[in-house]
Amino acid sequence: MLLHGTQQESSEGLMIGNLSCQGLKHRYGTPLIIYDQALIESQAALFIQKFTSRTIQGEIAYASKAFSAVGLLSLMRTLGLSVDVSSSGELYTAVLAGFSGDKIYYHGNNKLPEELDYALDQGVSTFIIDHRQEVNLLAARLEQRKQRVNVYLRINPGIEAHTHEYIKTAKHDSKFGESIFTEDIYSIIEEILGCRWLDLQGFHSHIGSQIFAESSFFKAAAEVLDFYVDVQKRFSCTLPSMDLGGGFGVYYTDGDVPIQLESFLGNLMAYLETEIKKRGLAIKKVVLEPGRSLVCNAGSTLYTVGGTKTTYSGKNYCFVDGGMSDNPRPALYQAAYEATLANRMHEAMTTHYTIAGKLCESGDILIRDIMLPEARSGDLLLVSSTGAYTYSMASNYNRLLKPAVILVKDGISRLIVRRETLDDLIRMDVVQ
Ligand SMILES: *Cc1c(COP(=O)(O)O)cnc(C)c1O
Repeated sequence: MLLHGTQQESSEGLMIGNLSCQGLKHRYGTPLIIYDQALIESQAALFIQKFTSRTIQGEIAYASKAFSAVGLLSLMRTLGLSVDVSSSGELYTAVLAGFSGDKIYYHGNNKLPEELDYALDQGVSTFIIDHRQEVNLLAARLEQRKQRVNVYLRINPGIEAHTHEYIKTAKHDSKFGESIFTEDIYSIIEEILGCRWLDLQGFHSHIGSQIFAESSFFKAAAEVLDFYVDVQKRFSCTLPSMDLGGGFGVYYTDGDVPIQLESFLGNLMAYLETEIKKRGLAIKKVVLEPGRSLVCNAGSTLYTVGGTKTTYSGKNYCFVDGGMSDNPRPALYQAAYEATLANRMHEAMTTHYTIAGKLCESGDILIRDIMLPEARSGDLLLVSSTGAYTYSMASNYNRLLKPAVILVKDGISRLIVRRETLDDLIRMDVVQ
């Protein structure tokens, strides 16, 4: 297993934030989601420090769907980030974490009327409009309130980024945004420009997730900037901002070559500066919306090994005390992970295992094939890089309790989400 952030081997086994996994299990129980605060801080600092220039302001908005909890969002706020939300629940969490409305970007392809009302009540200042009907939905509410907000229009630039390459799609069938290839889009822009309650800042695009090819982002930026030129010519307007979304690929397993943020962010900003100038555009601010790349490698899940089993055909199973309820990604889309026995890291890896959870579903496999020392009941299995899209996608399938989540740093741990109890589990049940 590749060690991330402050993870290191010691005589007490694996340490994170200078705390041993054994000690953390003792204190909090398992399954336990452990976030390495120092790694989150250094990732945030990278984005803020590298994505900046003399003429263009960079703004980094954390895509909170990757993992949203009040304690984590408070940390993101103190690190100087803004935040993306796409539901009342994500907004509520951001508000409790102390974000003011001017730091909140409201997304989503189907914003409900009551969600818009709640967002306006909370003073959210920026909305990303997904399609024409949302213009009317939002404008009607603003008219009633005599209130003006900033908007971006989400566009689909026809660049579909796959992990290693981008494809200029012939088909434009994404559920997100409006295609820049239809005449229709100009009439939507006209509507926005004609509405006194909407202040069009620019366009938003997000070309995919877990993208490894840096060229995809440059290509998308160029397409979007060409579109700005087109729009400004047609409407003789100047748009001050641009939002390029997230999607920066990270390391999960051997073979993944993640985006090198150190160089990439500066290069992207330099490219934008040049291309904006070349086109005579007035863009002064560019927003990025990283989710995974801020939190994925910082998070790990600690499980306790229960039974092991060798099947008739010779497959070795190692069972852990969680599974697809706390991390549905392997079952959803065959996501791969690395892991280690945190209490026996120095021992030779002798045995192939399939790591399976305890849920009643044959798809409840966390790792298909991994070499470990021969596992024993009570061992600690740490799965790394589980910081994004795991707890935020967790369920109570089989009525398992959702795990606790902690932040660790410099020998200190802090609980940010407590473990569910049986009473939490039935709190919505109507018991007669
Ligand atoms: C999901 C999403 C992001 C974050 O994507 P990552 O791959 O986690 O960086 C950013 N912007 C929008 C609009 C998204 O939907």
